[in-house]
Amino acid sequence: MTRVHNFCAGPCTLPVSVLEQLGDQMADFDESGMSLVEMSHRSSEYDEVHHRTLDLLRSLCSVPDDFDVLLIQGGATLQFAMIPMNLLSVGDTAGHAVTGTWGKGAFADGSAVGDVYAAWHGEQHNYARMPLADELDVREGTRYVHVTSNETIGGIRMPDLYALDVPQVADMSSDFLTREIPWDNYDLVYGGAQKNLGPAGVAVVFIRKSLMDPKCTHLPKYLRYDVHAEADSLANTPPMFSIWAMGLMLAWIDTNGGVAGMQQRAAERSSTLYDLIDSSDGFYRSPVAKGDRSHTNIVFRLGDADLEATFLTQAEQHGLMNLKGHRSVGGIRASVYNALPTESVEALADYMRSFAGGQA
Ligand SMILES: *Cc1c(COP(=O)(O)O)cnc(C)c1O
Repeated sequence: MTRVHNFCAGPCTLPVSVLEQLGDQMADFDESGMSLVEMSHRSSEYDEVHHRTLDLLRSLCSVPDDFDVLLIQGGATLQFAMIPMNLLSVGDTAGHAVTGTWGKGAFADGSAVGDVYAAWHGEQHNYARMPLADELDVREGTRYVHVTSNETIGGIRMPDLYALDVPQVADMSSDFLTREIPWDNYDLVYGGAQKNLGPAGVAVVFIRKSLMDPKCTHLPKYLRYDVHAEADSLANTPPMFSIWAMGLMLAWIDTNGGVAGMQQRAAERSSTLYDLIDSSDGFYRSPVAKGDRSHTNIVFRLGDADLEATFLTQAEQHGLMNLKGHRSVGGIRASVYNALPTESVEALADYMRSFAGGQA
């Protein structure tokens, strides 16, 4: 087996050990004579997997007792709509920090559902930086402020998670479990699993329990947080494979130092690449504000589009895959999520040095 260095922005690469455990158990789960994905979601085997995954999320993220942990299909995208549907009552409004592609997505879907406004807009800053807390225009009657802690496409990250006078809601899809969550400041934290936690198919939602009272009985069942919470995320058939795989990935995170370990890994690995970029005499350029550089999505440019194309072609010849920036912004993007082996970052750094040397 030859594995490439996979810098995919999502879905992410996964540890070989996790993939092998899935493979070993795929046809016969725990000597049951069937696959977990062929079982009833009410079976004792699945129940154990399901609850182990929920427990690992709770312990790894130090989730307080007054929060529920929910597993919901539809990715982070469905949360863009579910959040305002469940959290905004008549007369409430929500402020959005519109910091990039995903912040725009949350704002657009929020606008389709409720009364939301832009508390800050990154357009005039080319989406190259995050707002400071005191730059947010938080209006009277604001129920929550929505932030995107890491913009996956622009490659910017909130260096500090704010404490505001109103509760916040955070999309942490692309920096999930790479930093501690200051729970007091949040009512809800969410993210799709496929960036840092496992394969696609499930989103993790941490929600303050008091928000589910009164119940949102005017909404269809699947769109109600209280329905998922009361059923331990088993109100209907859950995405069993995704939850099983995420549980294995969370166990891997646990053995590799937990959130503190992932935080350190992310800081070190991103520094390796940013230091190289900064010391390349302008051969590589980072388009984002220095203090707001993402620790998981390292975006950079070369002299022109032709040189970037050559860089990408030769990178693939070295087994360095999925380095092309998002089609909306161009350039290069290396996504270095939790599961990416450190050797992959080293291989990329070696390649970047030799490519710059070869062009000099
Ligand atoms: C990928 C991503 C999304 C969209 O996630 P889906 O699970 O595909 O809906 C939303 N927000 C951020 C920050 C992302 O990185």
